[in-house]
Amino acid sequence: MERTLIGELKSKTGETVLIKGWVSVRRDQGKMVFFDFRDRSGTVQGVVLPAKAGDEAAEKAMEVAKEIRPEFVVAIEGKVNERPAKNVNADMQNGDIELEIKSIEILNKSETPPFPIDQDTSGIDEEVRLKYRYLDLRTERMQKNIRLRNDFVQRCRQFLLKQKFVEIETPLLTESTPEGSRDFVVPSRLQPGKFYALPQSPQQYKQLLMVAGFERYFQLARAIRDEDLRADRGFEHTQIDIEMSFVEQEDVMSMVEAMIIETVEAMGHTIKQKPFPRFTYKEAMEKFGADKFDLRTPEDKEKGILAYAWVYKFPFFEKTDEGGWTFTHNPFSMPIPEHIDWVLKKQNIEEILTTQYDIVCNGFEAGGGSIRSHRADILEAVYEIMGFTKEDLEERVGHMLEAFKYGAPPHGGIALGVERNIMNLTGEAQLKDVQAFPMTRGGKTAVMSAPKPLTEKQLAELGIEIKKNSHEK
Ligand code: ASP
Repeated sequence: MERTLIGELKSKTGETVLIKGWVSVRRDQGKMVFFDFRDRSGTVQGVVLPAKAGDEAAEKAMEVAKEIRPEFVVAIEGKVNERPAKNVNADMQNGDIELEIKSIEILNKSETPPFPIDQDTSGIDEEVRLKYRYLDLRTERMQKNIRLRNDFVQRCRQFLLKQKFVEIETPLLTESTPEGSRDFVVPSRLQPGKFYALPQSPQQYKQLLMVAGFERYFQLARAIRDEDLRADRGFEHTQIDIEMSFVEQEDVMSMVEAMIIETVEAMGHTIKQKPFPRFTYKEAMEKFGADKFDLRTPEDKEKGILAYAWVYKFPFFEKTDEGGWTFTHNPFSMPIPEHIDWVLKKQNIEEILTTQYDIVCNGFEAGGGSIRSHRADILEAVYEIMGFTKEDLEERVGHMLEAFKYGAPPHGGIALGVERNIMNLTGEAQLKDVQAFPMTRGGKTAVMSAPKPLTEKQLAELGIEIKKNSHEK
């Protein structure tokens, strides 16, 4: 018999079917045994009725039923019955049908899970949840979050493909791209003593793709940043990374706004204000005291409303602790047109504004981008303001300056943080609850236990010596 998905059982009322899945709950009432079964499409109740004398198949089913425990994987043959009106459970999926079990095959047994899977696991210790993440992911809440994430991402992808964007992957082993964090580095075996950096974002490659003539790029890019872990920040996150040629600030903002509106409304969400309100950085600081803010009222919060806004006209530079200048957002940004001259002349530095635009939603920064300086002289001046010598400049962005000599089109883009957007859509407060395999607070991988020491052989191959005591804390 072919497998029927639990979500499709209702249309098979009166028929005998085969389902496959997990046992969520078992209620042994002596003469009868009730189960809740679960597969990727839903849940259903099943019952093994008392066997009539001489009915060997039914006796066997009862025997197996007694052996079954939660999380066993089973194949069940049974008849789909309507439940009597008094037993209908309107709050439950398939609450009006029941499977009268004829036979049970155990496909695999399960040990008793370290925590209950038929309940929300928010209260369970994080180390335990992440050690057994594959079990945690079985819970209803986590299934919902990860599937919703998929839904959001696929809708954005479809939107972009319809707009003729090209999905292109960029390298993970690369050179440092500054996004204001520390790099994670990977030692080179072929060139001992040298290191790759994992990308904090695909910023430079996506700009090079504009020089390469693709005009509209996107990628579901992993951004890897060694920064202090917080509820809304992990070492790794995913961005919907976008870059476009021959555009101005307004074009990128309206394209992304249209994508978000189409996506989240199709997913059943309500947006507080359309078009999204816009605040300059100065206005935001005056009004909210911060460049991320929550425009929702308490009633909006209860209703799960999404309050998006744009923040723009950020200062380009800020003072470093040493008294020099550094970028506030992105060194590759173009200053606003009126301030290009100031950058080139290195004048009025604290007043220079960038074409950076951030998208804020329900108190989070949900994304950010800018128009880029596609002219070598502007990028060069930006790095000079930040105190780079000609040699440093060449070393850091020489390849970009070189690329810009060959007809780089005007371009700009944005990146949306997938996790932060999913947190807003699900109401989750922890980034970890919207990623399949996040790290622990202490930076240990889920299920597996990286980071780990290397073997002597690996260290020798890489030409690395570990300082004594450096890891014996
Ligand atoms: N690279 C930027 C970031 O990761 C986004 C962008 O400017 O496109 O925040």
